[in-house]
Amino acid sequence: MDRALELGIEAGARGDVPVGAVVLDEAGRVVGEGANRREADADPTAHAEVLALRAAAAATGQWRLEGCTLVVTLEPCTMCAGALVLARVDRLVFGAWDAKAGATGSVRDVVRDSRLNHRVEVVPGVREAECSGVLEEFFRDRR
Ligand SMILES: [Zn+2]
Repeated sequence: MDRALELGIEAGARGDVPVGAVVLDEAGRVVGEGANRREADADPTAHAEVLALRAAAAATGQWRLEGCTLVVTLEPCTMCAGALVLARVDRLVFGAWDAKAGATGSVRDVVRDSRLNHRVEVVPGVREAECSGVLEEFFRDRR
């Protein structure tokens, strides 16, 4: 979560909502990193989680990220939750809850939908205060 927070803060410094994500393999090594680049790239899908999953898939040479854990500072949205299922990620660890758009336990729960062919273990609220603090500070400074 340290690295995810760092990546999030870097995104915030260039004007993107500060969300950072890392993918760890079974051995706990970082195989992918991502930070929100929606503004930087003018790309509506450039969320930290999607970019981290792409980086991990490129690094490992496979789209299946079985055995991997994605760590992200904010609860994933519907798109990112869908991407976690598609990538067959084993575990999701997130920091702050997203009561407006969260799709892994708050507004909806895409990663534990029994109708889908893969489910993801969810570990929510890890270093929640720090993670939500970074977001609150970003939005406070923009007002
Ligand atoms: Zn997302």
